[in-house]
Amino acid sequence: MKKFLKSLVEKNRGISELGNVANYIPGLEKSNKHALGLCIIKTNGTIYSIGDYDVKFTIQSVSKPITLMLAILDHGEEHVFSKVGMEPTGDAFNSIQKLETCKSHKPFNPMINAGAIATSALIKGADNQERFDRLLNFFRKISENETLEINNDVYLGEKRTGNKNRAMAYFMKGEGYIDGEAEDALEVYFKQCSIEVTAKDLTKIGLFLARGGVMSNGERVVSERIAKIAKTLMITCGMYDGSGEFALRVGIPSKSGVGGGIMSVVPGKMGIGVFSPALDEKGNPIAGEALLEDLSDELSLSIF
Ligand code: GLU
Repeated sequence: MKKFLKSLVEKNRGISELGNVANYIPGLEKSNKHALGLCIIKTNGTIYSIGDYDVKFTIQSVSKPITLMLAILDHGEEHVFSKVGMEPTGDAFNSIQKLETCKSHKPFNPMINAGAIATSALIKGADNQERFDRLLNFFRKISENETLEINNDVYLGEKRTGNKNRAMAYFMKGEGYIDGEAEDALEVYFKQCSIEVTAKDLTKIGLFLARGGVMSNGERVVSERIAKIAKTLMITCGMYDGSGEFALRVGIPSKSGVGGGIMSVVPGKMGIGVFSPALDEKGNPIAGEALLEDLSDELSLSIF
């Protein structure tokens, strides 16, 4: 199996040539465009790690389903979905368009930037420090990695340059979709995006979802229902405006990030983590998507 997975990684590595690493957030441009890493952990504990699986990168949008789970734990499903919807947009992940043009002005879903900022605003805590500490501890717990930390340079870079996100946060605050202050929501959001992970960390979180919200020691952390919400939004909205095509090509609930990560969940079977920093025009890891398509075809992993 390891040999087979290695051959799939090597086959797809060259596809990175067709993409580009993100450079709109200072620091992301430093990634090696040709990196490609894969980690798989089955629910029986078997682990496969290939290529650049232990290279650190910032989690970026892969953080969104994780924050969503803690927001629901903190406030319940009804309150969370009164602030953010659950429908795909068909627009880019950082688009402001539908916020303004749709009548309700409610962000469409928690996987796009607008909806994710509204979700970050829902993390409970006496102040921003406590809010982010609770969130970081939740990431550490379900990744079973106590050493997770933020990359401070990426955090400060995004805080300095994230004006589109800032515009959306203030707009949503004006429309009543941000609990608390817009700047507080942004601080938590920028920090969560800057958490450094490896493909293996993402695999562990994928595995947690594959087990329906249960850690490898058997501890239940979120309900089946919360895990189901995260996986459903990943399949419908997790790959930005490429989610429909990805569902057909790969058919595995997944969430991508502009740092090059993809976290995938094969329910009841395995968690998969990919690192592939060269992105396609929609912001999805280009070689990573092709690798997951091969994997899904070869191992019949599509849920459809
Ligand atoms: N921090 C990034 C942003 O807000 C996340 C985008 C992504 O990974 O899709 O633009």
